[in-house]
Amino acid sequence: MFEKTVEALRRRGYEAVAVSTKEEAKAVVMKEAESAASVGWGGSETIKEIGARAALEASGKEIRDHQTMMDLFLLSANAMTEDGVIVNIDGTGNRVAASIYGPRRVVYVVGRNKIVPGGVLEAIVRAKKFACAPNCRRLSKKTPCAELGTCADCDSPDRICKVTAVFDRCPTHTSTLVVLVDEDLGY
Ligand code: SF4
Repeated sequence: MFEKTVEALRRRGYEAVAVSTKEEAKAVVMKEAESAASVGWGGSETIKEIGARAALEASGKEIRDHQTMMDLFLLSANAMTEDGVIVNIDGTGNRVAASIYGPRRVVYVVGRNKIVPGGVLEAIVRAKKFACAPNCRRLSKKTPCAELGTCADCDSPDRICKVTAVFDRCPTHTSTLVVLVDEDLGY
């Protein structure tokens, strides 16, 4: 399971593990959070779905939504190529910024549905269709993708795709773990 992607992520400078279930992913996250006083979560549906956000709140951790300075930053990827390139698309850019520089530790939790067999362009297409479009619908944005389900590279004031970050390698000063999960999680 995910051998090729785990190997590619390690070659790109990340720590990487593969797990079978969201419960195992949650256990990894909670272990990472043990020594963290402050935790950011990047608005990730995946982090909610595995139950980590609620568990962290219940444990009394300080949860930060829109800052870059914290002990541990949790997020998912909008898409990832099989050979370990991560793609994330933001409107504000705070999630991308925090995954590059600031937190002491970054942990991605990535469901199997986020991994594409092709290259970066396929990953961007996946992110637009299966992440941006449902996010626009969830947030009641007036964009073509919210209505039609496909990207029209819009000029809408509500556009949420303003920063496309392609991670060729793990950023230099940010210790990063990627947890791949053999379940569909988030979008
Ligand atoms: S560019 Fe516009 S239409 Fe395309 S995914 Fe982003 S918000 Fe939707």
